[in-house]
Amino acid sequence: MNESMQPGGVTPGNVTLVGAGPGDPELLTLKAIRAIRAASVLLVDDLVSDGVLRYARRSARIVHVGKRGGCASTPQAFIEKLMAAEALKGERVVRLKGGDPFVFGRGGEEMQHLRAQGIAVSVVNGITSGLAAATSLDVPLTHRDHAHGVILVTGHAKESGASPDWPTLAAAAAQGLTLVIYMGVAQAASLQAGLLQALPAQTPIAVVQHASQPQQRHATSTLGDLAGLIEREQLGSPAIILVGEVLRGLQARDALPESLQMGVSRVA
Ligand code: SAH
Repeated sequence: MNESMQPGGVTPGNVTLVGAGPGDPELLTLKAIRAIRAASVLLVDDLVSDGVLRYARRSARIVHVGKRGGCASTPQAFIEKLMAAEALKGERVVRLKGGDPFVFGRGGEEMQHLRAQGIAVSVVNGITSGLAAATSLDVPLTHRDHAHGVILVTGHAKESGASPDWPTLAAAAAQGLTLVIYMGVAQAASLQAGLLQALPAQTPIAVVQHASQPQQRHATSTLGDLAGLIEREQLGSPAIILVGEVLRGLQARDALPESLQMGVSRVA
C-alpha cells in the first residue's frame, strides 16, 4: 500500500484518461468536458487541439507531453511518473489523449501503472481518428453491401516487435473487411507491397490528414498508387489510411467540380 493512501486504500487524488477526439472540439463527449473542467492538472498529448483546452479552468496547470513520431518527445516513463506524483499530491489529473485513450494511445499501460500504485483511474472514451477520418469523407466503414467489419491496425511496429503481417491482413480485407490504418504514412511503401500480395491493385484507398480539423486534407486513389499518392500530395502525419470497397466511388466524386461534391474537403 502506498504511503499517501487514505484509509480504504484510495489515494487522495485521481487520474482520468480522457479521449480528446480527433481535434474538432465539438466531437468531445459531455463526460470529457466535465472531466477537463474539473481538472487541476492536465497532461496533454500533441495530437490534442487547442480548442479542446478552452474547457480547462484558468487555474489549471497544463503540461504538454507530446510524443509525435519523429519529434522530440517526453518519455513515456516520465509521463507516467508525473501523473502518479500529481495524483499522490491530491491533484485531479486529466491525461488528455488524441482520439480514444484505448485505441493506440497507450492508455492501457498508463492505467496499469497507476493502479499498481493504488491510484484511482477512470477512462472517458473519445472518437477515434479512424472513425472521424471515414465519416469526414461520408464513408460508412461497414456499409453492408461492401464490408462486414473493420480492422483498426497500426502501421508502426513497437520498437522491439515485428511489423504487422500485411499479406494476412490483406487476405482478411479481401473477404470484406475495411482496413483503417493508423501511423502508416511513413511506412506506406512497405505496407502497400504487403497488401498487394492479397488485394488487387485497383482496391480503393483514401488518406486523410488532420481529420476533423480546419486544416484537414485528403486524397483518394487505388492501392497500387498508395505510396505515390502520399508523396505527390505530400500527406504526412497525423493521417489515417483507409483501404477497401466501401471507398469505391470516392475517387470519381473527388474528380467532380467542387460545387458538385457536397462539401467534401479536398487536397488543394
Ligand atoms: N488514440 C488515437 C490514436 C493515437 S496513435 C486515436 O484514437 O485516434 C496516433 C495516430 O493516430 C496518428 O499517427 C494518426 O495515424 C492518427 N491520428 C490521430 N489524430 C488524427 C487526425 N486528426 N487525423 C488523422 N489521423 C489522426
